[in-house]
Formats: sequence, C-alpha cells, structure tokens
Amino acid sequence: MSDQETITAHLQALIRCQTVSHEDGKKTDWSQFKKLHQYIKDFYPVVHTEFSITEIGEAGLQFCWKAPHPRKAPLMLMSHQDVVETGDLSQWQHSPFSADLEDGIIWGRGTTDCKHLLTAELEAVEALFSTGWRPDYDLYLSLGFGEEIYRSDGPDGARLLCQNLQKQGIQIGCIFDEGGSIVPNDTGKLIAHIGLGEKACVNFELYKDCAGGHSSKPGAGTALGAVAKAIVAIESHPYPYRLTPLAKAQIEATAAVSSGTRQVIFSHPEEHWEDLCQIAKKEPALDAMLHTTFAFTMAAASTQPNVMPSHVSVGMSCRILQGDTIESVTQYLKQFLPDGVNIRHISGEDPMPASTPDSDDYHTIETVLRQQYGADLVTVPFLMLGATDTHYYAPIAHNVFRFDGYCKDNRWGDAHQINERIPADTLVPACTFFKTFLQQY
Ligand SMILES: [Zn+2]
Repeated sequence: MSDQETITAHLQALIRCQTVSHEDGKKTDWSQFKKLHQYIKDFYPVVHTEFSITEIGEAGLQFCWKAPHPRKAPLMLMSHQDVVETGDLSQWQHSPFSADLEDGIIWGRGTTDCKHLLTAELEAVEALFSTGWRPDYDLYLSLGFGEEIYRSDGPDGARLLCQNLQKQGIQIGCIFDEGGSIVPNDTGKLIAHIGLGEKACVNFELYKDCAGGHSSKPGAGTALGAVAKAIVAIESHPYPYRLTPLAKAQIEATAAVSSGTRQVIFSHPEEHWEDLCQIAKKEPALDAMLHTTFAFTMAAASTQPNVMPSHVSVGMSCRILQGDTIESVTQYLKQFLPDGVNIRHISGEDPMPASTPDSDDYHTIETVLRQQYGADLVTVPFLMLGATDTHYYAPIAHNVFRFDGYCKDNRWGDAHQINERIPADTLVPACTFFKTFLQQY
C-alpha cells in the first residue's frame, strides 16, 4: 500500500468512530472514544511504546516523550477527537460515519474538523520515530474530547488536559492546533493562514426582575421593554475600532496578495485608518477583527400573552478582543443599561495574548512551507474569530499556532456542514509538513 492508501485507511477508521460530543456528558457515547483509542494504539504502535500516555477525564489522551537532554522548550501537537452532530441525514450524499472513499474523496463528519489533523500529527510522529529519529526536546500530543461543546456538567476536557501539565510545572514552547490551512488565491498563489490569536468567547446575560402582573395594566411598560431598550442601546454603541498588533500584521500581510485600492489601504492601515474603518463597516469578518463584538442570541420572557413577565433575560455572545477583559466589557455595557436591568457574566474567560509573527518558530513554519511548496508561498498570520482548545493554555504556552498543515481547495466540504469531506491526496503533504517541522524545530 502507498503512504496515501495507508493514511486514508487510518483516517477512515477514525471517522467511523461516532465521537459526537454533547453538552451533557451523560448523552455522549464514550464507547466510541474507546474504539478510537484502540485504533490509535493499533495504527501507531511506536508512539504507543515510546510515549508515556495519560488518560484524562472521560476520553482525553496526553502523550509525552521526554528528551534526555532537551535543547529547546517542549513542542505540543493538539487536536480534538470529538465531532459535531451530523445534521439532517437525508442531505448527506454519503452516510456521515461511512467514511466512504469515492473518486479520491473521503466523506464524513470529522474529516476536516479535525480528525484530519489528529491523523496527520500522529502519522508524522509515528513515521519519524519508526526511523529511529528522536527529538532533542520534549514532545507532547494532546487529544481533547469536548472542543465542540460547552460542557454543562463539569470542566471542559482541554482544561483538564492543560491542568495536568500545569500541576507538573511544564511550560510549552510551541503548540499546533486546528485553525488555518494553505489556500490558493484567485491567481493560484498559495497562502498559508496561520492563526496566532483568537478572540475570547464569553457569554453574558442581561436580565430584569419585577413583580409582573396582568397585561391590562402595563403602566409605563414591561420588563421586556426595558431589556429591549438595553439591547438597542448596546447595539447602537459598538466598541470603537482599534488596531491590535496581530490585526495590523494580518492586514499588512493580506495587502501583499490584494490589488487595487484595497492593496493601498491594507499596506498602511494606520495611514488609511478612516478608509479601513469604512470597509470594516461593510465586512463582518474585518469588523470582528477590529473590536470586541456583541451578538444577542437568546431571549426569555412571559409564556402567556396576558401575563407580564416577572423575569426577562437575554443571552449575549460576546467575542472579546485582546486588550479588553470581562471586567472592562462589563463596565462598558453597564453605562447603557436602563434602571433595573442587570448584567451577569455566564461563562468564558479573558482573551489569551496573541503570539507574534516575529518569533523563530513562526519563521521555521515559513521556511518549512517554502521548502515544501516553493518560495512563492505567502504566510498570513491571523486572528481567529472562533475559539479553539488552545485558549486554556495561556499560562503555560509561548507560541501557539492554529494551523493544520493542509492544502485546502474547493473539493473540501467544510467543517460542521452537511457533506463534510476531504481529498485523500492532501493527507501525505500535511504529514510531511509536521515531519519536517518536528525535525527543524
Ligand atoms: Zn474543531
């Protein structure tokens, strides 16, 4: 069998493990994770022999290989084992856990989020260790099991995995986890998108308690009206835009692969600040890069038309940019709340600092990618708008790269969508990236 056939067969077996995670851990079928662990043991025997393995929580796996005389800070490869629900089964062209291979495409839930990454990382380490190669640094593999959910009945898996390192006093020099990929632009130039930071996903609730009463005597209005006024006031007062060092680096790097006025504006974002802000107002992704955002997503009030609510609450998903904190955002929002409307923090933590594109490790990624894909390849550091498991690692990690090493094109079926799928010919190059990086780190 060719390398591609072997790795394809491994990924197919992992896809067939239905590792769907649920907010309520009791609803998760943990036997599917056990099945996946058995496959990992079977497919990666050298890793299983050479690394010490710690099982954490219901299904977390932490692999550790200790160098006798480490020359550098430890390196950690992360990915998560869990996947999201399948959605409407009738819309799938191939059953989501069939892992069917047709015309070179592997179909299934988790193919691109992110068992492809888990596979590439393990294949790379297994292949290198099988040749006798050993790193001169400590090497970790960390496989989470609840990335896709907000755990409602206990601590999140990645938090437990991180705590296990923290209590041993371990500091990680460099982490890889899911995030960006290499994507060709309109002209065919390859752009490697490397996530160096992420916004913090924090949930707040606005609420008002009152006596309620009969809707025939509303007086000046209901608690629902008061909370609605708070929503309008907050949406009318977005945080002003500002340029973080990472946003600046991302925008300037994007200029190199843009054209026309966009290139002019993006090349010098500070000089063309007003123009940039005008573009951001029309482009939600750029808008989100430049400030902390608020999205009201849930609401609860009375359940009957003739009963005024005694408790009204609305849920707000807030994405906090580096430089703001839960405390500063709470204070900012309080100024827009009418009398009697309160705010409380539900979940989430302050944003972790972003890594810098000026580090040696970032330059090593660039070197490795250009060796593999040619000198024309452009890297674009970016701020992830979604969250990954890496956000727990702020206290113990130096450089965090949200990058999967894959080359992505229009044959892919996207994460979380119906018909998620990946071309089999992308697997070997992704393994090659990790192998080369491990050797050059
Ligand atoms: Zn994911």
